[in-house]
Amino acid sequence: MSSIAEKVIEGDVRAVARLIRDIDDGMPEVREVLKELYPSTGNAYVIGITGSPGVGKSTLVDQMVHHIRKDDKTVGVLAVDPTSPFSGGAILGDRVRMQRHSMDDGVFIRSLATRGHFGGLTQSTRSAIDVLDAMGKDFIIVETVGVGQDEVDVVKSAHTTVIVVIPGMGDDIQAIKAGILETGDIFLINKADREGADKTMSELRLMIDMNKRKYQDGKWKPPILQIEAVFDKGVSEFLEEIKKHREYLLRTSGELQFRKKRNRVREELSDMIKKRLFEEVLESITETGQFDQAVESIVEGKIDPYSACDNLVLPAIEGFLGDPVKG
Ligand code: GDP
Repeated sequence: MSSIAEKVIEGDVRAVARLIRDIDDGMPEVREVLKELYPSTGNAYVIGITGSPGVGKSTLVDQMVHHIRKDDKTVGVLAVDPTSPFSGGAILGDRVRMQRHSMDDGVFIRSLATRGHFGGLTQSTRSAIDVLDAMGKDFIIVETVGVGQDEVDVVKSAHTTVIVVIPGMGDDIQAIKAGILETGDIFLINKADREGADKTMSELRLMIDMNKRKYQDGKWKPPILQIEAVFDKGVSEFLEEIKKHREYLLRTSGELQFRKKRNRVREELSDMIKKRLFEEVLESITETGQFDQAVESIVEGKIDPYSACDNLVLPAIEGFLGDPVKG
């Protein structure tokens, strides 16, 4: 085993930090380390937290970390921020609110900026989860701004997915309806000290109950909780619900290794192949200048983009498949 993988498994914080940075930067060398780490994964409990900017996710995660540590469990936090591809360093680990945990070696906090790679967000988050899992963290919290499909996919990598809203967010609730209602295992109305929490609660309840059929036969029915993260109100009740959801998963599937389930494996492997092919093909056609040449030819009217695409992609794929050890 490589020394990097060994260090990660021993919980060496600097090795973990460097590896996650390399994952975020899309360095191809990380693949070998991830292969070695994979057998050591599958023990952490992954919690996904999603919601619009400003709803209080960071505040909540900070409180969760505090509670989890009081229980003597270790925790890793991944803050996924796809909206700021260039600010990686700015949000990295130095989130002011998290600083009370910065001296605690039972807590590991990192941001993933995922610098605009195709399919990069989901893939690099999954890889970073694997790293924290192999490192031995009991809980991994993935915090993300719930905007795009990519992030919905990210929270789907979690055992328990939590959707955070605040009172009076009518539009947001509409958005949830369209997209991620299905993926929510627990709903939180944060800032319940503000007016309108009860109304938001009944709106959410209505939407969830419309899915009633889904929740029959002992299926998990997502609870809705009112909390005040900044005052640590309702946070321990929320953690109780996570525990209940975990027990539910254990009861219904017998184990928590849900990432080994066939449909999950299918999805993850197909994502991985897409990303890998895209990287390999794009790299080979940009390095040789073929991509720029094709752009010029299209601009000059010498060729149509469909033919140009065929000309670029087909030989690249052949080259790739003809040399399976490449990369
Ligand atoms: P994020 O963007 O979702 O991570 O939101 P933050 O955690 O940064 O919180 C945004 C703001 O909401 C901060 O000023 C928090 O102090 C505030 N906030 C968080 N929770 C509560 C709450 O329960 N009540 C009130 N009134 N404000 C809160």
